[in-house]
Amino acid sequence: MSTIFSKIIAKEIPAHFVYEDDLVVAFLDISQATKGHTLVVPKAEYRDIFSVPDDLAAHVMKIAVKMAQALKTAFDPAGINILSNNGEKSGQTVFHFHLHLIPRYEKDDAKFSLKNNMSNLSIEDYRERARLIKAALL
Ligand code: AMP
Repeated sequence: MSTIFSKIIAKEIPAHFVYEDDLVVAFLDISQATKGHTLVVPKAEYRDIFSVPDDLAAHVMKIAVKMAQALKTAFDPAGINILSNNGEKSGQTVFHFHLHLIPRYEKDDAKFSLKNNMSNLSIEDYRERARLIKAALL
């Protein structure tokens, strides 16, 4: 079944496109978490970061950098969050890999907070986590 983003890419449903090439599009997120909130989306439908091929992922990131620069020029934000939700638990709602570019302004009301767990961890916990990740690298 085709995702809503595939329908947008096929121009079956409307969106405000800001970039398009052979592999990737960028269009305004309908929710506009902040002014200029933009999605960078590969045209090919990959569910998430775990399935997108390396070369396409690299191109998506290249275009994200280009779009970040355009957003900076267009809106002069104080900063920008780039994020990607992968999996329902992470908040993914459209299962077609994409990056969110969310410009940040001094007085915006967007919220991203990560809990700091370091007070509950020993040096051994960090060592073991790093060991497991390194062992999992292909
Ligand atoms: P995520 O929850 O990370 O999967 O992000 C999906 C995003 O797609 C949400 O921020 C939605 O606001 C956005 N979205 C859903 N439908 C549309 C649409 N028709 N046009 C533009 N953005 C959309």
